[in-house]
Amino acid sequence: QSWFDQARFIPPDAIFALTAQYVADPSPKKVNLGQGTYRDEHGKPWVLPSVRESRKLLARELNHEYLPIVGLANFRKEAAKLALGLELFQRQQDKLATCQSLSGTGALHLAGLLLRACKTPLPKVYIPEPTWSNHHQIFSSLGFQCESFRYYSPETNDLDVESYYSALKSTEPNSVFIIHACAHNPTGCDPSKEQWRELARLFKERQLFPLFDAAYLGFNSGNVDNDAFAIRLFIEEMNLEAGVCLSFAKNMGLYGERVGCFLLSTSTEEAAVKTQSMLEMLQRSEVSNPPAYGAKIASTILADATLREAWYDDLITMSGRIRSMRTGLYDSLVASGAPGTWEHLVRQSGMFGFLGLSPSVVLKLREKYHIYMADNSRISIAGLNKQNVDYVGQSITDCLK
Ligand code: PMP
Repeated sequence: QSWFDQARFIPPDAIFALTAQYVADPSPKKVNLGQGTYRDEHGKPWVLPSVRESRKLLARELNHEYLPIVGLANFRKEAAKLALGLELFQRQQDKLATCQSLSGTGALHLAGLLLRACKTPLPKVYIPEPTWSNHHQIFSSLGFQCESFRYYSPETNDLDVESYYSALKSTEPNSVFIIHACAHNPTGCDPSKEQWRELARLFKERQLFPLFDAAYLGFNSGNVDNDAFAIRLFIEEMNLEAGVCLSFAKNMGLYGERVGCFLLSTSTEEAAVKTQSMLEMLQRSEVSNPPAYGAKIASTILADATLREAWYDDLITMSGRIRSMRTGLYDSLVASGAPGTWEHLVRQSGMFGFLGLSPSVVLKLREKYHIYMADNSRISIAGLNKQNVDYVGQSITDCLK
């Protein structure tokens, strides 16, 4: 008998379990297209040159003191400037609340804690289907009722924007919608600028709260301003209150350092002061104060003009390599005569390719060809390189023929 007899057994997280399976596979041919982590052209983790430089500067006078509860002040400011752009930041700064977080996941969790503490009755949280595997878990574990809305059409392999509009039109006011700011995970399909405008208009009309999950700013197109288009549109042009959950895992390659920031743009200075104080209380009771090293690396890069330029170059290196592997796989599928059409692969953007393969093909690729991808046939394109891209294309073709 245990005090914990009523505990449920929760199966391991699918993507982390897949990585473990890949690591245990002795085949020299194996390819990991599972977890969304950037790899260089040799399949190795990449420490960004801008991050290396930042670390060198920091090493001169690094200490290991606690940060303030809401995090490093300079980091919070730089993160907000990055997401909003300088002009909007300057105009909006007295109406912002910001709190350093445990990467993007922690920012989403803080957002959930704040929304729960500030709003009765508890709003429903609407989440696109499909989505990043952790969204439902984060918000349902906080007690929110989570609802899915159709985001993607498997028939057209594209965004189903009409379903998105209808979801916004038919939900009760005060609901929260999770929005992938860019590089939608897993589909790689984002709304066009025109579609974003219509979405923003509907958010305003229906009094819905936009919560941006911004895990890929700058990593998607290689340019932060492009990737922050929707965030700035909602806040600046539509004058909406919005939450933004920033992660520096992908765009700075700081995965394990857990560097993130929750940013809330409110409509009054009073709301900013109050929500800032609540974030401080919520953070105190959960992590007391956030980890320091990664935030120092990131803020040093963002605050220094030379390092910032170097980081912009790093973003172009990463996003450019991913784009070239995306077309490389497309070319290989077409050249090897893979049945079906593959234009969707090159239409998508960001870290992932959403192939549209059946679960049995995904399994065969894993068991027979040692190619590992998520069960929904999402591939992390960064796992491709010149040495393996044709092998992957040819293997997919073999499985489909
Ligand atoms: N949101 C999305 C859509 C993601 O893809 C990820 C990373 N896979 C995250 C949030 C959060 O990642 P992290 O907590 O490592 O920043």
